Amino acid sequence: MTPITSFAGKRVAVFGLGSSGLISAQALAAGGADVAVWDDHRPGREKAEAAGLRLEDFVTADLTGYDSLVLAPGVPLTHPYPHWIVVKAKAAGVEIIGDIELFVRERAHIAPKATLVAITGTNGKSTTTALVAHLYRAFGYEVEVGGNIGVPVLALNPPSAQRVHVIECSSFQIDLAPSLNPSFGILLNVTVDHLDRHGTMEHYAEIKERLVAKADVAIVGVDDEISAGIAQKLRARGRSVVPISIDHPDIPDGIVLEGTWLIGKKGGVAAPIADLAGIASLRGTHNGQNAAAAVAALGPHGFELELVQKGLRTFPGLAHRLEEIGRRGKVLYINDSKATNADAAEKALQSLDDIYWILGGRAKEGGIGPLKPLFPKVAKAYLIGEAAEPFAKVIGEAIPYEFCGTIERAVDSATRDAESSTTPSPIVLLSPACASFDQFPNFEKRGDKFREVVLAKLAEPPRS
Ligand code: ADP
Repeated sequence: MTPITSFAGKRVAVFGLGSSGLISAQALAAGGADVAVWDDHRPGREKAEAAGLRLEDFVTADLTGYDSLVLAPGVPLTHPYPHWIVVKAKAAGVEIIGDIELFVRERAHIAPKATLVAITGTNGKSTTTALVAHLYRAFGYEVEVGGNIGVPVLALNPPSAQRVHVIECSSFQIDLAPSLNPSFGILLNVTVDHLDRHGTMEHYAEIKERLVAKADVAIVGVDDEISAGIAQKLRARGRSVVPISIDHPDIPDGIVLEGTWLIGKKGGVAAPIADLAGIASLRGTHNGQNAAAAVAALGPHGFELELVQKGLRTFPGLAHRLEEIGRRGKVLYINDSKATNADAAEKALQSLDDIYWILGGRAKEGGIGPLKPLFPKVAKAYLIGEAAEPFAKVIGEAIPYEFCGTIERAVDSATRDAESSTTPSPIVLLSPACASFDQFPNFEKRGDKFREVVLAKLAEPPRS
C-alpha cells in the first residue's frame, strides 16, 4: 500500500467503496488523514465498516469542513449528469479528486524523481501497460503495475527512486487527477468511445490530453486526427514529444513501424530499433503502435537494442487479446475474447490469415457490417449467441457460415473444417465482435471457456 502522508491531518471524504475506493480510504488513514466514507449501496458500506473505516452518511452530512472528496472513477463526475455527491461537494467548495491524484501528490511529496509511466488511449492501454512493465523488468528494475489494469494504484508499493510505476489510466481516472505529471505519458490513440460518460468527443479528447500535457516526455500516437492535434499543440508549447506512427513511417521524428521493424527517427534520419517479426504476443500493426510507445517509454534504455529486442521477444502478452492457446497438427487456436466490438475484431482479422472465425454474443451497435472488407480472410464463420441470426444476414453469401450456438460446438466444427482444409496453417479464432453477457458474466469467462475447450481438444490426438 502507498500511505498518503501528504494528507496527514486533513479531513477527507471518500465516496464509492469498490476496490479502489476502499484502498484509497485505507491509504489516507494510514498516512494520518481523518477519513470518512460512504457509498450509495450497502455492500460497499459493509465492507468499509469491516475494514475499520468510519462511515458518514454524506446525504445528510455537512461537507463544508472537508478538505477533499475522493471519488471512485465509476461515479459520474459530469455525464450523463453529475452524481449528487459531486453537486454537494462543489456547493461546499470541496475539491474532487481520485486515487491517481492521491498517488501523484504523494510521489511529489516523497519521491518526485521516481519514474512514473502513465498510459491512456481508447485502445491498447492494457497491452502497452503490461509491455512497458515487462520491458522495465527486463532492464532489471523493480516494477509496480496497476491503475485501471487490475490492482488499484494505492494498493501498490510507494514510489521510490528504485521503483518504476506503470499505471494504466482510464479517462474517468484522468478526469479526477488534475496534477498528473508522469515521467513518460503515453497517449496511444483517441477514437469514439464512452461518449455516454463524457458527453462530447471534444470533452473526451480534452481529458485524454491531460495525461500527456504535464508529462516530462509525451509519447503520442499520431495516426488519428485528435491525437495528432494534441501532439502538435504540445510541441508548440515547447513540451518534449515523441510521436508514434504505424501509418506514416515518413514522419521525421519519433518511432515508426516499417514492415515488422520499429524504427527510431530523428531529424529525418532513421535507425532500426527492433524487429517484431515472429513475436506472437505482438501480432498485428496495432501492436506495433503499442510496442513503439512502450519502447519510447524506456527513455535512454531504448538505445540498448539487444535488451530491447530480447524484452519484446519474451513478452508473454495478455490473456484474451490474440492469445495463442496452442496448436494441434497444423491448426493454431487463438483467443481474442476481449474483442467485444467490431473495431477490436477488425484488428484480429487484419492480423491473421486463413481464419476459422468464431463470433457472436450480444451484438453492439453497428454489428459486423464494417468488417465486410476483411471477409476474404475468413475461410468460414461459426456463429454463437444472440447475434447469430443478424450476423448471418450480414454475412449473406460472402463466406460460408454455420450456426453453432455455443463455444463448445463452434470449436468442434471449426476444428473439423480447419483440419480437413488443404491450406498449410489454418487458424481457429475466437474474436466475437460482441459483448459476452448473453452467455457469460464477462469477456474473461468467455475466453476462459474457449481456452478450456481448446486445451481439452489439444489433449486429443489430431485426426489423421
Ligand atoms: P484497452 O486496455 O485499451 O481496452 P487492450 O490492450 O486490452 O486495450 O486491447 C483491447 C483490444 O483493442 C485488442 O484486443 C485489440 O483488438 C485492440 N487494440 C489493442 N491495441 C490497439 C491499438 N494500439 N490500436 C487499436 N486497437 C488496439
